[in-house]
Amino acid sequence: MTHENLPPRPWMTEDMTLTQETARKFCDAEITPNIERWNKQGRVDRDLWIKAGKFGLIGAAIPSELGGPGCAPAHDMVILLEQARTGDLGWGLGIHNIVITYLLDHGTPAQKERWLPKLASGEMVAALAMTEPSAGSDLRNIRTTAIRDGDHYRLNGSKIFITNGQTADLICVAAKTDRNAGSKAISLILMEAAKAPGFRRGRNLDKIGMKSQDTSELFFDDVEVPAENLLGGEEGRGLYQLMDQLPWERLLIGVRALGLSEYAFDQTLRYVQDRQAFGQRIVDFQNTQFKLAEVKTKIEVMRGFLDSCIMQHMNGGIDVTMAAMIKWWSTETLVQIVDDCVQLHGGYGYMLEYPIARLYADVRAQRIYGGTTEIMKMLIGRSFTGKKPGAAG
Ligand SMILES: Cc1cc2nc3c(=O)[nH]c(=O)nc-3n(C[C@H](O)[C@H](O)[C@H](O)COP(=O)(O)OP(=O)(O)OC[C@H]3O[C@@H](n4cnc5c(N)ncnc54)[C@H](O)[C@@H]3O)c2cc1C
Repeated sequence: MTHENLPPRPWMTEDMTLTQETARKFCDAEITPNIERWNKQGRVDRDLWIKAGKFGLIGAAIPSELGGPGCAPAHDMVILLEQARTGDLGWGLGIHNIVITYLLDHGTPAQKERWLPKLASGEMVAALAMTEPSAGSDLRNIRTTAIRDGDHYRLNGSKIFITNGQTADLICVAAKTDRNAGSKAISLILMEAAKAPGFRRGRNLDKIGMKSQDTSELFFDDVEVPAENLLGGEEGRGLYQLMDQLPWERLLIGVRALGLSEYAFDQTLRYVQDRQAFGQRIVDFQNTQFKLAEVKTKIEVMRGFLDSCIMQHMNGGIDVTMAAMIKWWSTETLVQIVDDCVQLHGGYGYMLEYPIARLYADVRAQRIYGGTTEIMKMLIGRSFTGKKPGAAG
């Protein structure tokens, strides 16, 4: 059974099925033919965002009066799943949508009016800048500061590994507004790159995979950002805002892991049905069937686990512990699945002209970003001790 003939999920409405069909057509037409070219180019085409905006595939929950699709947030998951099913990890739509969710949930009315229409249309691309050279998992330890100076903040510091870093127009920057305020030290500042003298992008980082996603260092040298760009308008709310959104981000990473696992399976099944050795097809060996049986079973377990996480999310929000579980388990399982799929391709699985080889390098980062596997287990572990979960990148 391929993903095309799977029954809709228990959480899917009729509306979502329509969104899924639109997203699938869009991804088949606009992503699949371009993946290899984007990998060479080091980024996706800028007009992909505009095209997606026209189809209503960005920021599902942005209300129609602000230029958005006006749908339930779960539509974002459906779209992300279709993107992953093409095997693409280059288009940074996931993180763009996360910034949109920050604005929807925590932005002031003026901030929503100012940025959401442009983010929905693809006119603006967003990035989320938390990680620093000396602080990734340990978010509380960031050094970037945003110190109030009249009607501005002065932003100083640097960020690293930022998705959409080369292309982003609106960057949500985690910075300390008061170094001595403990858990209230961090705030989120929305910086418009075109209006930020002193802001500089480093080079597009040379990663082992995900070559079509631009990932960069960012530098802030006394950048003046208007005070009204403080997310929510109140200082010291950054950690709370991050803790509120990270479970959703981790759930989306789980959704993506499912789509990529399906893609790996489909590619591999096609390959082993075609390739011959010892006078028969590779798929006719019992070992191949057993390996594919394991992969397929893991995919169905992942799907079931995701369904229950998604339903928890739709019934009041997924909690930190559950989000950590789906994040670590689905990404670790994805990496095992892709490794098995490479093995079934033999030497061709190691050649970049085969999509499975690219995927092998691409998926590795899933165990790291959005919070590492170790940090996810730490968060789950805390639920046994009665201590507060806290924010970790
Ligand atoms: C492709 C890619 C895209 C990314 N995109 C973004 C982005 O858009 N925005 C952004 O802000 N960041 C982004 N990141 C950064 C990513 O979130 C961090 O790399 C990640 O959170 C880990 O932080 P670190 O690299 O500083 O590792 P460290 O925190 O230095 O961790 C190093 C190792 O120590 C382990 N470790 C750390 N603390 C503990 C602990 N308490 N217990 C046990 N083990 C521990 C970690 O699990 C890891 O194995 C991206 C990273 C990559 C690779």
